[in-house]
Amino acid sequence: MNDPATLRGTVMGVKTRYRCTACGNLTRFDVVETTSVQSFHHYTVGGELSIEEPEVISKTVESVTCRWCGHGRGVEVIPESQ
Ligand SMILES: [Zn+2]
Repeated sequence: MNDPATLRGTVMGVKTRYRCTACGNLTRFDVVETTSVQSFHHYTVGGELSIEEPEVISKTVESVTCRWCGHGRGVEVIPESQ
């Protein structure tokens, strides 16, 4: 579970819990994620923009670092079922 690739593919709306295997932290993490949002850009005749219907089409967790001990590679994902 130490491979960062195992942290990828988290989809919006799915609750992900993490656990630091180094210090046991369950509550404080620095999470870096990339989100792709598709939205409807609506311009008025005067060129004023309003952005509507934003929809997250993908979200990727780049890295998770434990806030307590700074351990990045010891963080594992806790499966939803537990
Ligand atoms: Zn930790």
